[in-house]
Amino acid sequence: MSNLLQARGKLTPNAPLAPLVWFKSGGAAEWLFEPADADDLAAFLAALDPATPVMGLGLGSNMIVRDGGVPGVVIRLGKAFAAVEQLDGTTLRCGGGSSGILVSSKARDWGIGGIEFLRSIPGTVGGFVRMNGGAYGRETCDILVECEVVLRSGERRVLANADLGYTYRHSNLPEGAIVVSATFRGVPKPSEEIQAEMDRIAAAREESQPLRSKTGGSTFKNPEGHKAWALVDAAGCRGLRRGDAQVSEKHCNFLLNLGEATSADIEALGEDVRARVKARSGVELEWEIQRVGVAK
Ligand SMILES: Cc1cc2nc3c(=O)[nH]c(=O)nc-3n(C[C@H](O)[C@H](O)[C@H](O)COP(=O)(O)OP(=O)(O)OC[C@H]3O[C@@H](n4cnc5c(N)ncnc54)[C@H](O)[C@@H]3O)c2cc1C
Repeated sequence: MSNLLQARGKLTPNAPLAPLVWFKSGGAAEWLFEPADADDLAAFLAALDPATPVMGLGLGSNMIVRDGGVPGVVIRLGKAFAAVEQLDGTTLRCGGGSSGILVSSKARDWGIGGIEFLRSIPGTVGGFVRMNGGAYGRETCDILVECEVVLRSGERRVLANADLGYTYRHSNLPEGAIVVSATFRGVPKPSEEIQAEMDRIAAAREESQPLRSKTGGSTFKNPEGHKAWALVDAAGCRGLRRGDAQVSEKHCNFLLNLGEATSADIEALGEDVRARVKARSGVELEWEIQRVGVAK
């Protein structure tokens, strides 16, 4: 890493990731890099040995970091990437590290509707673009115009919505590419109506999901024609435990860390649920949560 020490951002060896992810479990990043800005990130990646793996990290709200940690470099976007600006009456440019709550609140202030759903997804713009995050009938691909990325090679590129091959909770964002900003387009709408919709969404969330828990959000994708939570429930998995890992009683497509669960406990519980659902209904559940790094 000696050729990377000119980076203006912060490079930390052996950086614990558990405090940075919602599950509060898992090992360390071999290296954690928090770039000063997009140019810094581009120069860093261009100088990095091409064999070194690179992974983006937002708020870690859809991620199990395995207990042996993540080899290579984890890139986390800080304050320099958290700004949201208005481009015109319906368009916003958002930093890759800005949160869903900030983006939706700015859109409300500027009278831009159709972006309210981001109010309820506790992640960053980089995570939304990669995961095609969505809720209440809308998803990121419905509002994304384009995004700016730094490719693993260090090259900066603008990718249009159509370049990202969006499907349900999936994009074809190239491996190791980091989303540094995204342009979203909504529709003109009075701010009070937007606020009312955001309040409705927040209340619905509060009622149905364990929002103040150590969790990774929806664990499995909804299979075609099914709701994942209903399959998990029908297989008798509501409340199922493995050590301190538990299937949420409140929303059984959520797994919880009740205190001291390891990532191995959480992942094994998820695999147990998949096996029980397969045995009960014949449906193969697919993980939505990103499982990263190596086992201990
Ligand atoms: C309580 C709760 C409720 C949730 N509800 C929903 C919901 O309704 N709908 C929904 O879709 N999701 C939901 N989620 C899951 C999660 O919030 C989303 O998947 C979100 O998009 C993840 O964003 P993040 O920034 O935290 O990404 P992370 O969890 O940090 O990472 C997720 C993936 O995105 C990649 N990534 C992160 N940042 C970047 C970047 N800048 N550039 C490139 N790749 C990047 C990571 O490498 C990883 O592959 C919920 C999670 C929780 C905990």
